[in-house]
Amino acid sequence: MTDTARSNAISRYSERRPESASALDFFARLWDLQDEIAEGAPDWETPSGDDARAAISRHQTLFSLGAPEIDDAVFADAAARVAALLADDGGLAAEDAEALRSLDFGELLKDGEAKRVIDELDVLATDLTARAAEKGITVPTSTVSFVLMNTATPLLRAAAKAAVEALGTPFDWTVWDSGLCPVCGTPASSGWVADEGELKGGERHLSCPLCRASWGFARVRCARCGERDHSKLEYLFDEADPGHRIHTCKTCHGYVKVAFEREVGMGIRPPVEEVVMLPLDRVAESRGYTPLGDQDEESAN
Ligand SMILES: [Zn+2]
Ligand SMILES: [Zn+2]
Repeated sequence: MTDTARSNAISRYSERRPESASALDFFARLWDLQDEIAEGAPDWETPSGDDARAAISRHQTLFSLGAPEIDDAVFADAAARVAALLADDGGLAAEDAEALRSLDFGELLKDGEAKRVIDELDVLATDLTARAAEKGITVPTSTVSFVLMNTATPLLRAAAKAAVEALGTPFDWTVWDSGLCPVCGTPASSGWVADEGELKGGERHLSCPLCRASWGFARVRCARCGERDHSKLEYLFDEADPGHRIHTCKTCHGYVKVAFEREVGMGIRPPVEEVVMLPLDRVAESRGYTPLGDQDEESAN
């Protein structure tokens, strides 16, 4: 399966932004690998439109109706391939790359555990990191987390897409009204504002880093704490690049990166935009913002 819009976005950005070229080069290889991994995605029975809409109106995720059964062996094999790519081409320190290569995901994962990536990826990453340490292998939890996330995405994204489609179009997302993914519950990794012409202000969408579902979300609303007071919300961006902005919230000190389709000048592929927007994390951090805001710090303490 080739994704022409994705390839076009990658080549355009690689030309226009030499500073993002090497990251895009790595991610392009990762996305190609994910397309191969996606062939092993489990079959999943899509919920009926009524069941899907009822779940959303109760503020329950669509996967809470019954999540795809990720097979442990399929997952472990795919994770090994993602880990190998990251170790070879991910620009890790030599010793981290070596440690990553020596991880055996089949051995680290207990029976039936692969499906934990859906509900508690961070906890699973912490557990696997601890189990690796018991075997004398030191890897950062963030590295394990990256591997788990990027392994799970291709195994879940077709089901997630079908789940959102089951809701019917157009769907009124004000019923969900959340910065958490309506399919799997993961906090949005980025957003974009669609170019829908001069008359209609473009709608804002959010994108899930895990299952890659996207959903509508109010433009004047914090995706982390739900703040609606526009004096607390602000877009920060470089004048030279108005297509990529950080939507910050003074109430929870969280932010979300948002691409503007009109200014970007081409169709939005959220994973590509997220790579191009990586430098914005440092800008947000230097101003005291964290991706998930204060809520995240509380849960981390
Ligand atoms: Zn999701
Ligand atoms: Zn907020």
